[in-house]
Amino acid sequence: MSKLVKCMRCGEREGEIELRYARLVLCKECFTEYFIDRIRKTVEEYKMFSPDERIGISYMADKKSVGLISGLIEAFPETEFHIIYIDLGTTFYTIEARIPLDELVQKYGVKLHVYSLPNEKGYNIEDFRGTKYWRKICSTCGILKRYYTSYVAYQLGLDAVATPHTLDDVVEVMFTLFLDGKFEDLINMKPVQHPEFPNQVRRIKPLVKTYEWEVDEYVDIKGLPYPETECPLKKGARSTLRKKLLKDFEESEPAFMRKLYTVFMKKLVRLIEERYEPPKLVECKICGGPSLSGICGKCVREVYLRDRKKLDIKIG
Ligand SMILES: [Zn+2]
Ligand SMILES: [Zn+2]
Repeated sequence: MSKLVKCMRCGEREGEIELRYARLVLCKECFTEYFIDRIRKTVEEYKMFSPDERIGISYMADKKSVGLISGLIEAFPETEFHIIYIDLGTTFYTIEARIPLDELVQKYGVKLHVYSLPNEKGYNIEDFRGTKYWRKICSTCGILKRYYTSYVAYQLGLDAVATPHTLDDVVEVMFTLFLDGKFEDLINMKPVQHPEFPNQVRRIKPLVKTYEWEVDEYVDIKGLPYPETECPLKKGARSTLRKKLLKDFEESEPAFMRKLYTVFMKKLVRLIEERYEPPKLVECKICGGPSLSGICGKCVREVYLRDRKKLDIKIG
């Protein structure tokens, strides 16, 4: 911003952060409060959890996760939180991405649970190199993280797991599903997903109303540690390009993403829920998780690696 303005909340300090979608200019202190407050309100609005429940926070090795961890703990100081981290076994995951965790654990006194794929299962994400899964490795990565995060949370007896999906993430996925005509899948983007099977926990998205840039801003203002790089396998992913596109829209029309989210969630998802019967899920014969065909996506991939690459993988 060019000219000096006062913060529209406290009216005292200099307004440094402009929230165009809300026509607000805030100082750093008031923005921090605003950010934490929105997390609190989002959790309450969607009844994501009650403060006496035990909640897992999925650390996805990025800045957003750091913002989520800090924001949730600040918003609900009474709640018992556990950070869950799935180490996929590459240098990035095992070394770089883990650097901020010690500091966060020390700062907030939160518990940390690391599940190492190579140690526990005998393979790492690089083992998919040269297979049919490599081209869309982000999707495999997502399936594995999702399954094992849920697994750890269930083992710990937690009530829910929070994931760091921001408004940008959710709108990008919805937009893509819409373009692909996969309308039924839009239902899976709801901010609270209740378990489909008894060995799962509730999944929640407390950042669903928060823009990604706001999370970045919050982490910077608080001076929190975060991974310096991002997963090198992510380069050129479709989601990165689409998110850039949506950001451009937002640039010329503030609140664009919020509007899109509301239309999808309040109108389209409702229509779909009225019209479509959700697909019947059956228990995966190997791990007992939800699947469409009797073997879930995670187990299909592990069996594939074991048989094609002759790896000594623990399956199930
Ligand atoms: Zn202020
Ligand atoms: Zn399975």
